[in-house]
Formats: sequence, structure tokens, C-alpha cells
Amino acid sequence: MLDSRARLYMRACDLLLTNALVVTMDERFTIHRGGAVAIAGNAIVAVGQIPNDVEAAETIDCRGRIVMPGLVNAHTHAPMSLLRGLADDLRLDVWLMGYMMPVEREFVRPDFVSLGTKLACAEMIRSGTTCFADMYYFEDAVANAAASAGVRALCAQTILKFPTPDASSYEDALGATREFLGRWKGHPLIVPSVAPHAPYTCTPDIFRSCAELAAEFDVPVHTHLSETALEVERLRQDYGMPPIPWAKKQRLFDARMLAAHCVHVDEGEMRTLHDAHAGVAHNPTSNLKLGSGVAPVARMLELGVNVGIGTDGAASNNDLDMFEEVRLAALLAKGISGDPTAIPARTALAMATRLGAHAMHLGDITGSLEPGKRADLIVVDLDRPHSVPRFEREADAVYSQLVYAAKSTDVVDVMCDGRWLMRGGRLQTLDEPELQRAAGDVARRIDAFLIRREQSVLQKLIAIGGAAEQESYEIQVKARLTSEERVRRGLESEEIAIIRAVHYHQYDTYFFFDEPDQGRLRYREDEFLDDKNQVVTARARLTLTGPSREEAFGSVLLFRSRFFAPAHQSIRFYREYFKPAREREVEKDRRRWLVAYRGVQFYVHLDRLLNPAAPGWFVEVKSRTWSRRDARDKAAVITALMAHLGARPEDAVEADYVEL
Ligand SMILES: [Zn+2]
Repeated sequence: MLDSRARLYMRACDLLLTNALVVTMDERFTIHRGGAVAIAGNAIVAVGQIPNDVEAAETIDCRGRIVMPGLVNAHTHAPMSLLRGLADDLRLDVWLMGYMMPVEREFVRPDFVSLGTKLACAEMIRSGTTCFADMYYFEDAVANAAASAGVRALCAQTILKFPTPDASSYEDALGATREFLGRWKGHPLIVPSVAPHAPYTCTPDIFRSCAELAAEFDVPVHTHLSETALEVERLRQDYGMPPIPWAKKQRLFDARMLAAHCVHVDEGEMRTLHDAHAGVAHNPTSNLKLGSGVAPVARMLELGVNVGIGTDGAASNNDLDMFEEVRLAALLAKGISGDPTAIPARTALAMATRLGAHAMHLGDITGSLEPGKRADLIVVDLDRPHSVPRFEREADAVYSQLVYAAKSTDVVDVMCDGRWLMRGGRLQTLDEPELQRAAGDVARRIDAFLIRREQSVLQKLIAIGGAAEQESYEIQVKARLTSEERVRRGLESEEIAIIRAVHYHQYDTYFFFDEPDQGRLRYREDEFLDDKNQVVTARARLTLTGPSREEAFGSVLLFRSRFFAPAHQSIRFYREYFKPAREREVEKDRRRWLVAYRGVQFYVHLDRLLNPAAPGWFVEVKSRTWSRRDARDKAAVITALMAHLGARPEDAVEADYVEL
């Protein structure tokens, strides 16, 4: 296996690893028993049986050990190591929008990102990973931390359609990414990249701009595609096509693509990925844990797609252990297909090394032990009870050994770019006790933030965006009527000017909480009806109402604290996020008039309760107010207005519909 070019170098190399079981993971899956790896500078100069006359500055005897390429983690969010275990066993949207993004908005700064990346690197080095594909905010800080830890990384700066911890708009994010690419291009360890986050968090415009930027700097694009069935369904609804053709339409495949997940893809989409030379990162733990499904990786590999394996972020895994991930990838393919020959150990290990490197478009420099590639390698100790006995009848047995029996803790030495990152189980570039202490500090601060937030429904409402914090006072009165005639006739009165009239069908879900001080949260879906009672449009909003009335002026009541937010998520999302103690549903037909009466504007509602069904009609008059005095003045006007509408003071009902 020794080529002539290697022989020339061999007279003097810096380091010689000898007597090892060398598992090269090259195209031919070459294995050398009692083999050697020679390293000069940051490169591998020879692999195999090395002549005796070689002069090496240092020789290390690797008897009883495997020397193999460092593992390649093809998709992660390294700084999220600091969010490990923060919120688990939740649906993707509740987990992401309810916990990850609010905490990220509050805490993610360059120092957080730097610490999180170093912690992740410590974990990755310990478990034999020498190269990872990252996607996060403040990617400069990720790149700096990875470079200082000595780990190879594809660092992709995230771009989203909404404000992020590091950019107030996507135009800002694009500008910053351009500078980032310029700064890191050509670095020996870091490959800068651009990451439009996902189709559901970006616009076609963002995807197109990112593709152009990647082409301009000749760097890869890293994104999430087809992670959940919901994502695919929504994109079909909005654009009439699933994510892969959608991304292709935005010319993303003109760039060197690394697509994470690809769980819900069909045969044609897999062919598109292949034809575009796109890399795919399979994330078995993350996909299982978030209930997203299982990517058809066996078929992708058959088609010749470069499929690597990733851990995804530690917040959704919850570790960065590639040994676990490789084993799971091999087992999952069998379990899902009922075919025990699917993804054999050797293939799984190739995915975690050479194929992963190709998926990241770094296959020319890492992912296998071959002369000319960078010296990215690990030494695995076989002298452990779970590694014996060893059968040598079939050379491939070593792959089973590594995938089904070995553990990340068997990794004793790790080298990246010719530099030792771990020797004899000791990290060489990172201060583990210090990182662990600092991570503990961050956890305490995040705990305090979430404890504060979880105590208050209002704070939770603000945390998920909407964030239309708006406090107001409102006076209102409601009365039960046996006929709607009087209201309609009353509105025709000359003293009342109708400014606007609307007809709705309203579906309300009220969330109640154990502590009455929290108030109640109402999720309302309004359907606007036309003259023929057909639905024209619909909208959904959330309203948090204070616990009780402030004051009463006769039957007119003063309420405080109503917070409105548009409801972008489903009722199911809010239920899982707010975890109410009880719920009530109210459905009604509402006619609403905005009227002017004695110089004041009021809303008049004429309601018919459909669920729970109640006889008769209800008339309600409301107005915004800003002080007690204003409220008292308006209360007098409201009382007169109610008389016009045929409601006597004794018809007033104090109870809300949910209490009737
Ligand atoms: Zn991800």
C-alpha cells in the first residue's frame, strides 16, 4: 500500500504510529494488521507496512490498538451543548418556539457561543470526533473556539427570516455572513459556510441570496431539509412542492449542499440530491427523539448519495457521541426495514468517516487514512472486556467490533491536522474542569430565567414572540335579551352613528390556571362572514385577561390588563406550551358594530351562544378607557346607550360566557 511518492517523504517523518490494526476507511476498505501510519507536518505521508529504515522524530507503538480516521459529525449546533437537557420530550414546535428560541434570544452572545463550542469540542474529542459540520449564530465565535481547540469544522452562519440573537433582519445577517466568509476562507481547519436555516424559517428570497453568496465565495451551503412531515405538508400547501424541489428552484443545489435530515423524501427527491452531488446528514437520535421519522438512508446510499451521520445539537440528542450515533444508524435501518442486512457495520462506519467528509465537501482532505490527506485520526484501545475475544477469520469483523461493541470511552488518542488533541485520555487543548464550571454557571442563569418565566402566563406569552405587550383598561356591560329586535331598532336611532359593522363566527378556547392571579388565556378563531353567511377570512389571536374586575359603576365594570398577541401557532401548540389546568370552549355568532354615541366610540356586540347553547341573545357594550375618571364618565354614557338598545339594568349579567 506504499506508493513511491510516500517513499520519498519517508526518510524523515515527524511521527510514526506502528504495530496498529490500521482501519483506513478508504474506498477499498483497506485494513493493515500490524500496520503503520506515517505523518509529516499536518499530513499523512504513508499508510501500511513501512520499511525499517525510516527515520521518525517520534515513534509510538500501537500494539493492541486500532488506528482509524477521526469520526466526522456531519450535522450539529455545537454551542447548544449549553442547552443540553433544558427541555425534553416535547413536540418540535413547542421545543423550538417555546423553549430553544426564547432562551437563545435571551442568552446567546459571542461568549456563550464560544463556551458552548469549547464544551462541545471537549466532548467530541473525547469521543473520537475530529471534524464537525456546525450551524449556529455568531459563527465567528464557533470558528474561533473550534480552531483554538484544534478541531476541523465546517462553520455555517445561520440566516432566518426573523430577528436572531446576532441579526435584527435577514439583510443584516446576509451582510455579516459575507464578512464572515471573507474572514475565514482559506483557514487550515475552518471552512466557512452559509446556512439558510430551513424552508419553514426562511423565504425563497433568503434561499436564493444564500445560494448566490455560496457561489460567490465558493463555499458549501448547510441547511435543514424535510425534517418533519408537517414541514413538507406546509410547503406543499404554500408553494405546491416539497422542500427538495423547492430548494432546487431557489438554485440552492447550484452550490455544494449539505442537507441535514432529509427524512421525508421520495425516490425522485433522492435522485435530485444525488444528481446535485448534495451531501445528506442523517441524524438518527434527533429524528427519533423529536418523533420526526426515519430517513430512507439505505436507499440514498444505494443511489450513491453521500450520506454522513450527525448528532444534531446537544439540546435534541442529548450528547455528541458519534459511536452511539453510528450504532443507532446501523440498527435503525434494520429495524425499520425488517432487513438485518441493511446498513452493515462497515457501511455505517463509512458514513461516520469518509462519506460524512464527502457530504461536507471535505472528502479530499479528511475522512480516511490515505497519503496526502490531513492527519485526522484516532487510536482506539481494544484491551477491554467488551472488546474480547476478537475473531480474525474475516477481516470485516473489525467493523462489527467498532460499531456494535466499542464505546467512545475506548478512544485513547486523538489527532487533528497533525496535532494531538488527546493523549492517553487527557485533553491537550482544552481545560475541562474550567469549561464544566462555566457551563454550570450558565445553567444556573438559564434556570433562574425559566423559573421566573414559567411562574407567569404573561411572561410565557411574551417569550414566544407575539410579544405585543399591551396593557389597557376597558369598561363593559353585558345584558341578556329575549329578542334581538330592540337592539337592531335601537341602532337605527338618530343619536347613534354606525361607523362599521362586522359579522363573525367565533370559536374560543379558554385556558384556566390553578392560580387565579394568572388570569385566563383565550385562544380565539374569528371567521368573518359575508352577507350570505359565507366565511370570507379567518384569524386567530390570543388574549390574556386579568384575574378580576377593578371597579363597578352600577352594572358597568372596569377591567384591567388585557394582552393581545396574534396566534401564529396551533391550539395544540398553546395547550402543550401553557399547560392549563382546565379548558372551556365557547362558540358564538357575533354581530359587532363600532358606533359613536354622545361623542364617544363604543363597540356593540349582539351575541348568540351556540356552544354551550343558551336561549336568547346577549348585548354587550365596550369601550377602551385610560383612567378611573374617564371610566366613570363613560359608564354613564354606556348606561344610556344600553337603554337605547332595550337592555334594562336588571337584565345585566355579570358573568362571562364561560361562567354562565
Ligand atoms: Zn439541526
